Amino acid sequence: MDTETEKIYVSELVQVTETTSSVAMEKLGFQRCMEKLKACNVTVDLIATDRHCGIRALMKKEYPNIDHHFDVWHLSKTLQKTLLAKSKTKSCEQPASWIQAVSNHLWWSAHTCDKDPELLLEKFSSVVYHTANIHSWDTCNKFHRCEHPPIREDDEVEPAWLKLDSPAHNALKDIVMDKRLLKDIRFLNRSCHTGSQEVFHGAMLKYCPKRQEFDFPNMLARTQLAIIDHNENSGRQQAVVRKGHKKGQKRYNVVFSKASKKWVIKPIYEAKEYSFIYDLLMNAVAMKIGHLHVLPPVKKDLPQNIARVPKPSKAELVNTLKARFGKS
Ligand SMILES: [Zn+2]
Repeated sequence: MDTETEKIYVSELVQVTETTSSVAMEKLGFQRCMEKLKACNVTVDLIATDRHCGIRALMKKEYPNIDHHFDVWHLSKTLQKTLLAKSKTKSCEQPASWIQAVSNHLWWSAHTCDKDPELLLEKFSSVVYHTANIHSWDTCNKFHRCEHPPIREDDEVEPAWLKLDSPAHNALKDIVMDKRLLKDIRFLNRSCHTGSQEVFHGAMLKYCPKRQEFDFPNMLARTQLAIIDHNENSGRQQAVVRKGHKKGQKRYNVVFSKASKKWVIKPIYEAKEYSFIYDLLMNAVAMKIGHLHVLPPVKKDLPQNIARVPKPSKAELVNTLKARFGKS
């Protein structure tokens, strides 16, 4: 995705005030965002979401002209969880060692399929052959052999090969070739992922920590600050070494990943830019001395709480509690 598409354009809070379940709330929030974008004359050509059933049905019914894709990260997480659950069953422990490799293979397949869903499916499902030490086949139309360098028989491979048609290999095959999974993997052919959205959620937590309660104007202002911060800093480049003999080389950090339980390399990005704060401070001073007039936010009619039934009296609840413990 380019920098422009990574920016958050929803400049107002999308309020979901109905007492709905979180699943329905997600759909309602999504729907309101889409309506707001339409009202702002923003044309949406493509959208990437997780595999939320309600949103999937909504996209099909209400937005048939928008190209709907799934986020690679969410699908790879589901795949990992399914493999992990299966590897906890008897005589199927071995696929556990392949979880990270299968997930990496999904990312690679989505990234290198040239937007072709057929090629993507053939590349992804070839992992069934590779895990059994088979690196070429003639059962596909477009992808016929692994793209890694040749492996010699005496090469030590990690993780160990699965025996063809063994319970472990069949278990992995059942998961990888699951019809519903393959149907959804077709929607990864643009290799979309919502990483920038996760970065924005991180910014939201910085400005609107969950442990604190904020009133409506405060919440609105903090959300807007998170959006400004995100938009000012999206599309930062990887930092480079500025001096010495490594000058110009890209910078990385070595960190221990809790997920993969391995040391991994992560790029270091350029420092964040906060010069927008000075404009905000200037405006705050201008407002204070009366040179700038901004209308306060219109407070929407929000319900007092999320309860679906009226609040009983305290005495009534005390009596219920006493009755439960058999006291007069
Ligand atoms: Zn292979």
